[in-house]
Amino acid sequence: MIARVNGPIYLDYAAGAPLAPEARAAWAEADVPGNPHAPHRLGRRARQVLEQAREDIAAALGAESAEVILTSGGTEADALAVRGIFEARQKDAERPCLLIGATEHAAVRENASLARALGARVLEIPVDSRGVVSLAFVAEHLDARGAETALISLMVANNETGAVQPVTVVVELAAQAGVPVHSDWVQGVGKLPTDFRASGLAAASVSAHKLGGPVGIGALLAGRGVGVVQVVGGGGQERGVRSGTQDARGAAAFAAVLRADGPAPEALDALLAPLDALIAEHPALVARTPKWGRLPGLRSFTVTGARGEALVYLLDRAGIAVSTGSACAAGVAGPSHVLLAMGLDEATALGALRVSVGAGSTLADVEALVEALPGAVERAQAAAAVTVAPRHARPAAGIAPGRPQAREAPPPRHVAGGPGAA
Ligand code: PLP
Repeated sequence: MIARVNGPIYLDYAAGAPLAPEARAAWAEADVPGNPHAPHRLGRRARQVLEQAREDIAAALGAESAEVILTSGGTEADALAVRGIFEARQKDAERPCLLIGATEHAAVRENASLARALGARVLEIPVDSRGVVSLAFVAEHLDARGAETALISLMVANNETGAVQPVTVVVELAAQAGVPVHSDWVQGVGKLPTDFRASGLAAASVSAHKLGGPVGIGALLAGRGVGVVQVVGGGGQERGVRSGTQDARGAAAFAAVLRADGPAPEALDALLAPLDALIAEHPALVARTPKWGRLPGLRSFTVTGARGEALVYLLDRAGIAVSTGSACAAGVAGPSHVLLAMGLDEATALGALRVSVGAGSTLADVEALVEALPGAVERAQAAAAVTVAPRHARPAAGIAPGRPQAREAPPPRHVAGGPGAA
């Protein structure tokens, strides 16, 4: 039997955090009607709000205001970085290589794929069984083809498993070869060190809604000397790189959550202790989040003999919101490209579940999950036993771990990590 709990318990912060009171208040306070580019008084007021927010966002992330390009979120920031920097790097020399981690979010993968139209040769950096990229692959590639490499894009922490990547080492290796590095910081802000100046990165992507800010605002931090070609043409706002009317209210709300003291990362992680204990003792549960070098407040595990989507449904009926971690396209859940890249087979990868906590989470929330989960597992296993599992195409990130060879990545096939990946 699945234990019933009162009211929905939200354990899916990695997909999106509830709006924080600070963001709501800042949004309401910044409610000015003017377009920040309008010359009248209200326009000037909106511009003031926007530029103050830009300064606060920059200060919180160790950047200069001129380095903050406001976007509609993490996806657009990743698109600008991957396609925009790739294109800018072709201006004075031919640099076809575009290196991305094998477990990057769809926002990086799909845009790398789109960069093929600009001549990109996309190479995926393989990962080991913990989901951590091969530094040997990066070093060997840079030795052989550093001069032909336009950009490396490597996320700070994976959104499905929480595996933290050695971005600092990659930046050091890349610096010796004169190659800029972009990092997707969307999951890391507030939980991992994200000081842009100290990072040595050329660019980093951030998003407000993972932190309790509104959906629809984010930023690309791009060093002053980093060329970025626009992806969408228009009025030339935001350094001439990101056109469209600027969202002063959204920026103010984003700045407010960055200014606010969020929960301490260690405290977030401690909330998951009861789940860690269950994963350790339950024979069907296998941890997929590394023990060390992980994003605080997130756990991924697979359930042997069950489908993650069935568990999400059963737990939802019990009043608990969790996620499989990867997305489904056209209603068909596919195995996660992240888990496949880590060497899991498809059936195992389809049993993935992700639990993520945030500012509003309590120990009681996680205890309720731990109480409900064994029953849900039993039912999902029983359901899987009578269902003929559909066959799934292996998605793009299929470079086998342990074989770090410079193989060009095939274009993604919109299976896992596609539309809706969080
Ligand atoms: N990158 C990562 C690692 C993410 O987890 C997400 C969230 O889904 C994104 C990019 C996309 O961000 P947004 O939802 O703001 O477009």
